[in-house]
Amino acid sequence: MCGYHDEAAPASGEDLLHQFGEALQRRRGERIAKVYTSGSFFDDGEVPPGIRARILGELSGAFGRVVIESRPVFLTEGAVSDALSSCPGLEVALGLESASPRVLERSVRKGFTFSDYADGATLVRRLGGRVRTYLLLKPPFLTEREAVEDAVASALRAAPLSDTVSLNPVNVQRGTLVDRLWRRGLYRPPWLWSAAEALLRVRRGLGEAAPGARLVCAPSGAGRRRGPQNCGGCDASVLSALEEFSVSQDVLHLEKVLSAGCSCMPHWRQVLDAGAFAEIMQDALKPR
Ligand SMILES: [Zn+2]
Repeated sequence: MCGYHDEAAPASGEDLLHQFGEALQRRRGERIAKVYTSGSFFDDGEVPPGIRARILGELSGAFGRVVIESRPVFLTEGAVSDALSSCPGLEVALGLESASPRVLERSVRKGFTFSDYADGATLVRRLGGRVRTYLLLKPPFLTEREAVEDAVASALRAAPLSDTVSLNPVNVQRGTLVDRLWRRGLYRPPWLWSAAEALLRVRRGLGEAAPGARLVCAPSGAGRRRGPQNCGGCDASVLSALEEFSVSQDVLHLEKVLSAGCSCMPHWRQVLDAGAFAEIMQDALKPR
């Protein structure tokens, strides 16, 4: 589902510093800086260590909070403590996507396990950093119901290891397997109702287990053909409930929008109640 391979271009350390300098000029005065390399900030092959330290040093002075992304394999004790000494309170975002071994292996092909993630997250927090965990809502080969259940179970497991859990509904990016499935009618991006329901269940389910973990959801491409969507008529109100919840953590916003409903809600419920993915595929592929 990830189309970044199409957008990658070789960049030297000097190129990175140049891009960073330009971006910094435009963003002075903001509270939070997120440096999204669409890869791993701690990968020496992507961001050389000297460049990394310079970028973090500059960000630390200019912003209240700094967020970077990395795969757990690059989180060594040395690299993380160096980064935290340049930038105290640094938040490291880890793309876990799912806590289920089956989903990680078959739907996401992530290349690491929940315990690799947990080790990385624990290291970052032990050294004084913050952890943000990304989860996917509806990677391929899951029904809508399986996707909701996977997101809820994954968030409940990741939250105690995280300061923030970010639920990211899949959007259809060009040149990906999901794109090919979508073009053939074999994949639909998740409903926004599913995101609202998953967040509500996680927030309620967490209770005492991880009351401090924030849950956020800011879907990309929402309401568009390739993005998470409802019927079109209610997308804006569900999106704004997701946004208000992400800021306030108050489940009331989710409860209100779910109980207000929409004429598309019975259709969503029907989709949720459909059988397992394998049965639906067998049915879809039957010769007619
Ligand atoms: Zn609707």
